[in-house]
Amino acid sequence: MVALNIAIVGAGIGGPAAAVGLARNGHNVTLYERTPSIGSVGFAFRVTPNSDRCLKFLGIDALAGGAVAADLCRMMTSKGELLGEFRENQDPERINGGLSVFAHRPALQKQLIDEAKRWGAQIKTGVEVTSVDVPRCTITFADGSTSTVDLIIAADGVNSCIRPMIINSSLYSLKTSTGHNCLRATMPLQAILDDPITSHAVNDELRLLSWHGDDKIIIGYVVDNGRLFNIVCAHPEELSNGETSSGDDAESTGSENRISLDKAREIYKDFDKVAVRLIELADPGSFRVWKLMDMDDISRWSADRVVLLGDACHPLVPFGFSGASMAIEDAVTLTELLPADVNLEQVQGRLQLYERIRKPRVAKVRDQSRLVASNFKQPGGFKAFREFLDNHDAAEYAKQELKKQAHASPEVVVDEAH
Ligand SMILES: Cc1cc2nc3c(=O)[nH]c(=O)nc-3n(C[C@H](O)[C@H](O)[C@H](O)COP(=O)(O)OP(=O)(O)OC[C@H]3O[C@@H](n4cnc5c(N)ncnc54)[C@H](O)[C@@H]3O)c2cc1C
Repeated sequence: MVALNIAIVGAGIGGPAAAVGLARNGHNVTLYERTPSIGSVGFAFRVTPNSDRCLKFLGIDALAGGAVAADLCRMMTSKGELLGEFRENQDPERINGGLSVFAHRPALQKQLIDEAKRWGAQIKTGVEVTSVDVPRCTITFADGSTSTVDLIIAADGVNSCIRPMIINSSLYSLKTSTGHNCLRATMPLQAILDDPITSHAVNDELRLLSWHGDDKIIIGYVVDNGRLFNIVCAHPEELSNGETSSGDDAESTGSENRISLDKAREIYKDFDKVAVRLIELADPGSFRVWKLMDMDDISRWSADRVVLLGDACHPLVPFGFSGASMAIEDAVTLTELLPADVNLEQVQGRLQLYERIRKPRVAKVRDQSRLVASNFKQPGGFKAFREFLDNHDAAEYAKQELKKQAHASPEVVVDEAH
């Protein structure tokens, strides 16, 4: 049994998750990240039960890292009239070991990186990958040095530099399929509790508030052990075009996509005064605006022993709360398909199985995420979608699919683009 030498490019969410699972399987994992430090910046996101189940499989307890359970959630019209309240974690059977939580991205990244290191993964920051020689499985870095490995996992985000080496990128482009831009900001929860307009908006039980307009939406929730409040607001792109830079990495915090408080207030001025006040209370320096991009199915996710993961192969608009969740599921799937006893000859076939397992699920999530944006007030089929999303156990599913393949035939490698 010989461990694989695996290079993972990108330490966002999917890269570190894959590093944990594959290092735990006994492989020699090196994770390369171009930014000088990991987990020092970023916003929050919703971890649905399917991805919390995956995190637990990887040994990560998001709540212990400061994530906040989605206890009571309140939905309102843009004017503040109640549409409904729901408890995400009420039905233990439905959530089946996975909770719905709000995670602060830097905290979750730190948990994943610490766990990856504990299993022996090497983490190299400030190292940019510039290209990959697919047949040779060789990476070239910005300083001109190279590294040849057994497997390259490209988890380098929406603007992946490795994707064009796997597919003919002129056939597939990032698109603003729903026509929305999205603004995010954070503020101390205490500022909300101290403000007369917002002091009753959240409490120890009520953790999420959302205001649903015709073509705009504001969602706010508590993160970071109850210290921070994160707001996510989507609006038609023409209202903030010129403020965004297209196709930013999902969590880019570059100054090029800042937006002023005045502009943010102007966009949402017709909303309930509590929602507008939340925007006013946000740390003005924390405002960022993103052009929301996704992509149609690409022809393949792997070539030889180079494979794409997360936003690199399936960027999603965030209305299904699933970009990071799908990246984590990808990582867990690869973990199950590449156990300690896998040999080099089997790797390509396993990558093709990974793609067959993951593509249909991700396509459904992408389509539903687009659909939500067509009617923020009454997203069609949302309940059925949440069941489809939440009930999945990516590790168990991959294990069963691998068993099925082993019984069906010896492992086959398909040569053409599949
Ligand atoms: C407004 C908004 C709200 C969102 N809300 C949610 C939500 O509620 N729930 C959810 O699940 N998801 C959400 N997402 C999506 C989520 O943030 C992304 O899908 C997720 O971060 C993708 O993870 P990833 O690991 O694939 O890529 P990323 O997190 O983008 O990480 C890619 C990493 O690769 C590094 N990198 C890039 N190129 C190179 C290179 N050449 N060499 C070395 N390193 C490189 C980057 O620096 C980065 O660290 C949201 C996204 C946005 C924009």
